[in-house]
Amino acid sequence: MSTTVERKDFAASKKLRDVMGQYFAALDRGPAEGKKTAWCTSVGPAELLLALGYNVYFPENHGAMLGASRMATDLIPLANARGFSPDICSYLTSDVGSYLKGESPLQKMKLSGPPKADVLVFNTNQCRDVKDWFQFYAREWNVPCLGVHTPRAIDAVDGSLADFVARQIEALVGPLEKVAGRKLDIDRLREVIDLSRQTTMLWKAVLEAAANVPSPITFFDGTIQMGPAVVMRGLQAAVDYYKLLVAELRQRVAGGVAAVEGERLRIYWEGMPIWGKLSPLSNLFLESRAAVVASTYCNSWIFEALDPADPFGSMARAYSSIFICRSDEVKQCYIERMAQLYRIDGVIYHDAKTCPNNSNNRYGLPQRVQQTLGLPYLVINGDLNDLRMYSEEQTRTNIQAFVEQLVDPLLKA
Ligand code: SF4
Repeated sequence: MSTTVERKDFAASKKLRDVMGQYFAALDRGPAEGKKTAWCTSVGPAELLLALGYNVYFPENHGAMLGASRMATDLIPLANARGFSPDICSYLTSDVGSYLKGESPLQKMKLSGPPKADVLVFNTNQCRDVKDWFQFYAREWNVPCLGVHTPRAIDAVDGSLADFVARQIEALVGPLEKVAGRKLDIDRLREVIDLSRQTTMLWKAVLEAAANVPSPITFFDGTIQMGPAVVMRGLQAAVDYYKLLVAELRQRVAGGVAAVEGERLRIYWEGMPIWGKLSPLSNLFLESRAAVVASTYCNSWIFEALDPADPFGSMARAYSSIFICRSDEVKQCYIERMAQLYRIDGVIYHDAKTCPNNSNNRYGLPQRVQQTLGLPYLVINGDLNDLRMYSEEQTRTNIQAFVEQLVDPLLKA
């Protein structure tokens, strides 16, 4: 098969590298500048931590870097030897392996590595693994590990649920003030929430540009461009970056620039990225002229409920509304809405072996979406970081056959 098609990078990406580099450099300098570091799960109370003056570090982002750099598979066994099963989250096991071996992709950026935490703050809205992950480091460094326990399989994010979560976030303030050595300024919290909401709405605009035909951006671009939305929400630099990217996307749309030249199919990616194989997968779809235009994953950093007028209540609603902690009924409606918005021809479900929380093919959801919308689907077996769970050849063959099925109207019928 031809390999002449290339991914079209964005002019903004140069700025992206600068912005992300500055974020990591600031983390590295933190202790020397007397700044405290808080570790936070991806949808933990980052806004509260920023308002209290912490540098906020997201270990899941480090997990993704370990996957993308293909360091993960060699590091996971070290965590297994420490008692963490090969079946649990491979972000956790690769990150713990990285810590035990003292090797990190951050060192390739001339940084010392992940910053040591003064406090670790989790939210179980995504899974229990994050709590176990953070507790490991809390024991290693003898620092506090605090958290929010959010229910799972939530149907409606109603008043009682939001209140239950908001009270838990409020209860973090005292212990976090103690570690930070300062009092929470509620006006500063409102400012951070406002910046976070601006980031989120700009990120939404980035992703929704893909509703255009042809799409100016793919899921694979999204996994790179999402960096500031993941680690810098609440910071002005993230807002500034996405304004730039949105402007470039508008230019692409106005000029009819397609991310996938000759786009003939539009695919939805459900589940985790396979970080170590993003490039070959992106090339495979480019060659097939199939644009992966939308994903649950990239959309998981849109927090529309954030509202500076109601800091704790809106953080609770925003953190509890994410796809991963919702009921299957809500998930089905969501995927159907996305399929219509992005004019999807087929859905690929990634069954990530170490993340059942983000694998939505296991309880009949693909079949139900197919019945409702007539949407063909493919399940691929793999993992976010542990490439021992992934067969490149088998996946390539399955995706090629799926694409052929979608383009052939006889087979499609
Ligand atoms: S949601 Fe999945 S990938 Fe993310 S931390 Fe939890 S188990 Fe790991």
